[in-house]
Amino acid sequence: MEKESCGIVGMALDGGNAALPIFHALYTLQHRGQEAAGIAVSNRKENGVEPVDIKLIKGMGFVYNVFSTHRLKSLKGNVGIGHVRYSTTGASRIENAEPLLVDYRKGKIAIAHNGNLVNTAELKRELQQDGRIFHSDTDTDVIAHLLAKELVRHDPVEAVRVMMGRIVGSYSLVILMDNTLIAVRDPLGIKPLCLGEISDGNGGKGYVIASESTAIDMLGGILIRDLRPGELLMIKPSQGLLSEDSLENHQLCRGTNAAHCVFEYIYFARPDSILDGRLVYDVRMKIGEKLAEEHGVEADVVSPVPDSGITFAIGYAKRSGLDYTEGFIKNRYVGRTFIMPGKASRDTAVRMKLNVVRANVEGKRVVLVDDSIVRGTTSRRIMGFLKDKGAKEVHLRVGSPPIIAPCYLGIDTPTRDELLASNRSMDEIRTFLTADSIGYLSIEGLIDSVGIDANNLCLGCLTGKYPVEIPGEVCIARQLKLSHFGYDAGAARKFI
Ligand code: AMP
Repeated sequence: MEKESCGIVGMALDGGNAALPIFHALYTLQHRGQEAAGIAVSNRKENGVEPVDIKLIKGMGFVYNVFSTHRLKSLKGNVGIGHVRYSTTGASRIENAEPLLVDYRKGKIAIAHNGNLVNTAELKRELQQDGRIFHSDTDTDVIAHLLAKELVRHDPVEAVRVMMGRIVGSYSLVILMDNTLIAVRDPLGIKPLCLGEISDGNGGKGYVIASESTAIDMLGGILIRDLRPGELLMIKPSQGLLSEDSLENHQLCRGTNAAHCVFEYIYFARPDSILDGRLVYDVRMKIGEKLAEEHGVEADVVSPVPDSGITFAIGYAKRSGLDYTEGFIKNRYVGRTFIMPGKASRDTAVRMKLNVVRANVEGKRVVLVDDSIVRGTTSRRIMGFLKDKGAKEVHLRVGSPPIIAPCYLGIDTPTRDELLASNRSMDEIRTFLTADSIGYLSIEGLIDSVGIDANNLCLGCLTGKYPVEIPGEVCIARQLKLSHFGYDAGAARKFI
């Protein structure tokens, strides 16, 4: 099944064109997906008679590869959505790139999704029996079909509510229809999604929805708040302009608990983002400090594996009193290592990406800090590089507890068999990695560092217990109790 972690953006401006700020926001979220990028804007017809059209441009590669100035200028409209896609399993093809644009009986809808549904196969089978045809193999296609089906008989909010009653998994969504932007966060708030306000400096303003607050910062805006789990936010400019009445929100359903993805704090999000009220940088600093408390060791220097280990290593150095050094310099122009085929070239790729600064490690006892170990192949190679350049001892410290189980909810992780820590003792792991000692952060230490109650976090990859039902896996049932609220169009709550 497709597994993906992506970045999404929604924008509604008080006049003007949304494509350029969406492009800038996507560029800021590039770390969330480098495989494909896309922008859809709704093209408001001035005469108000012709139906609203939606124009979409998407392509494979980085945001700046897909969008030239010319292409951006051709996207006209003040409301739009964007997507960066990250997927390492399943087909890497343009049909799977987002936003997904569909034509249904009442018009067009564009959808961009971050997350992963766990009942896609079942829903797809049902829809196919109904005669529906799929052009991509993403779960977003399933969402689009379900939504289009409900939109034929319901208003947009009710249609989303009914759709949410059918889909299970993680989903932060931005949807574009009829010159209206709709943002939705799943009932457990697994993937992040926040709302911000921007101003064009001339009295014009706009609202931004983004996976991470750093995209709002980049636009010179302010973060208003995170979307609540199970919340729908609708932004509808009237005659192309925003007013007090342009925003409304609906709490469509609520879980007894949230299940925010803990891996966003460990690895996925940018450190300068604020997710559900926590600055990721602070969380990572605390993790580093806790690691030093839990796994102190006699050593000379602390070095990160750049870039992912940097903040953790600073925290470790601060708490331990050891000198912080750069054992490696990263070539920032080398992309993700696993896109290079074949074993030999993978080795070359890691070597191209990270080079040891011999003078900083030779003859020294090094504490090497990284954010997480997945398969262990990168860490093992890196360890070899340090020893080759004369490091006397290497003590590996890891900012996450052992990853023992796959993620089904939006982070790309391999199967249990491929996860280094799923079936090995700590000593076997240490021997495989050729480390002199190894220390993973404890789950308690992690929860403490994040500062969110364990009952409101998804710790599936660390515990093997998931907040939604997944065939063959253990489910934490108390988080499943969702009360789907009725929706009364007449009593639509104004935005708060
Ligand atoms: P490895 O243990 O060789 O699989 O590589 C683990 C390293 O990859 C970690 O140190 C992270 O910096 C990074 N990483 C962790 N999770 C992911 C992911 N889902 N996709 C890509 N890279 C990841």
